[in-house]
Amino acid sequence: TFDRTPLIAGNWKMNMDHVQGITLLQKLAWTLSDARHDFSRVEVSVFPPFTDIRGVQTLVQGDKLKLSYGAQDLSDKDSGAYTGDISGAFLNKLGCSYVLVGHSERREIHGESDELLNAKVKAAFRHGLTPVLCAGEGLQIRQAGTHVEHTLAQVRAAVAGLDAAQAAQLVIAYEPIWAIGTGEVAGPADAQELCAAIRAELSKLFDADTAAKTRLLYGGSVKAANVAAIMAERDVDGVLVGGASLDAGEFANIARFEN
Ligand code: PEP
Repeated sequence: TFDRTPLIAGNWKMNMDHVQGITLLQKLAWTLSDARHDFSRVEVSVFPPFTDIRGVQTLVQGDKLKLSYGAQDLSDKDSGAYTGDISGAFLNKLGCSYVLVGHSERREIHGESDELLNAKVKAAFRHGLTPVLCAGEGLQIRQAGTHVEHTLAQVRAAVAGLDAAQAAQLVIAYEPIWAIGTGEVAGPADAQELCAAIRAELSKLFDADTAAKTRLLYGGSVKAANVAAIMAERDVDGVLVGGASLDAGEFANIARFEN
């Protein structure tokens, strides 16, 4: 068996101002500690808006909460005349462990290209952050049956130029767009099919040992009621949760998927 600690990640998207964010995190920490959550066996991580991160850092470090956190995006540049952008260096300084790269809402709404996302993945590593690369197909591609190839092409482009140690550290979330925020959840078998295909691709691009270490997540309408079956799949090492991560009780129940 490989040490792929399951990762339960909550993407708050553009929800929760910094006051609401603190309240949500306090509730989550309280709920998890109340349930004697075993943090050595499951890692819980939140991805708040940029403006919440300083508050999250203060709470996590001050109260010694065993939660990790990350940002939802970063610039591919390090510093300079890039108005409105956020450097990975700033995120590192705020104690972020992770950063989402290539969420479908960034790809679709902001037109982020595979080439830019490859540069963002490299920027994350440059600044000591673990990228959580998101990839997955839209409905038309799913219906055409080319979803595996489509997703693998996104992964290949994003990991180009990485070394094996970086590929092992990387987290990849398979997120079929048709299942995001729609209530439509891909079946556990769909999640497994894609995660296995991504792991096989990493094995080809790097080597089998590396691919065995990379954590692969599923995302798309995950809830407490459907998480156990998804987590039971052998190549699924965690979940990326949008809507259900805004409810502390529901998100804590997702993190307790084993019970
Ligand atoms: C997401 O945005 O990463 C996501 C999976 O959203 P939801 O859980 O709301 O479908």
